[in-house]
Amino acid sequence: LFAGSCDFVFGAQKLGQLPPLTLPEIAFAGRSNVGKSSLVNALTGRKTLARASSEPGRTKQLNFFDLAGRLMLVDMPGYGYARAAKSVKEDWQDMMFDYLRGRPVLRRVVLLLDARVELKTHDREVMDLLDRAAVSFQVVLTKCDDVKPGPLARKQAEVEAVIAKHPAAFPYLTLTSSQTGLGMEALRAELAEFALP
Ligand code: GDP
Repeated sequence: LFAGSCDFVFGAQKLGQLPPLTLPEIAFAGRSNVGKSSLVNALTGRKTLARASSEPGRTKQLNFFDLAGRLMLVDMPGYGYARAAKSVKEDWQDMMFDYLRGRPVLRRVVLLLDARVELKTHDREVMDLLDRAAVSFQVVLTKCDDVKPGPLARKQAEVEAVIAKHPAAFPYLTLTSSQTGLGMEALRAELAEFALP
């Protein structure tokens, strides 16, 4: 699946622009700078796939990538960028909520958290939003190469305690690093379960 083609299909800025409901979808969400582009690129082995889509200040849009005609990867705009205008952020959250709640082919959200950074209010808000939308999500810790084993274990325990309280969350974490490839095979295997045959 991940060795096949991966093509950019569409960037949607409005709900009316979403592509047809042809493939199962997996959406990736996280704060700006969490390492989302790097992770999606590492997963798919492409260097320019999720390129500038999450750059702060860029137009917020949902980017759809067709994986071998069997699965759609959806790159959601990064949230929580401090200098983003409040109204833009609110608009984006409305659209995101509508997408999350109203997308029948959406099978899972992969929520990225930076292993080096404290959990932020926005992360908690997104988890609440996913609970309310009843979209099952799994949490992935990024940049694990950059954290020593002790602090990483504490971080893992801390985040596990948080997600245990979220009914829509899977009760486990995946530790990843786009730089070392840690966790990529596990994540690929997991996501492949959702692909069309
Ligand atoms: P995005 O805004 O969420 O798409 O984040 P990017 O993928 O652009 O990454 C943000 C920053 O984190 C960049 O400086 C990356 O080099 C760095 N980064 C991304 N993934 C990793 C990783 O696995 N390990 C480390 N140490 N840094 C990473």
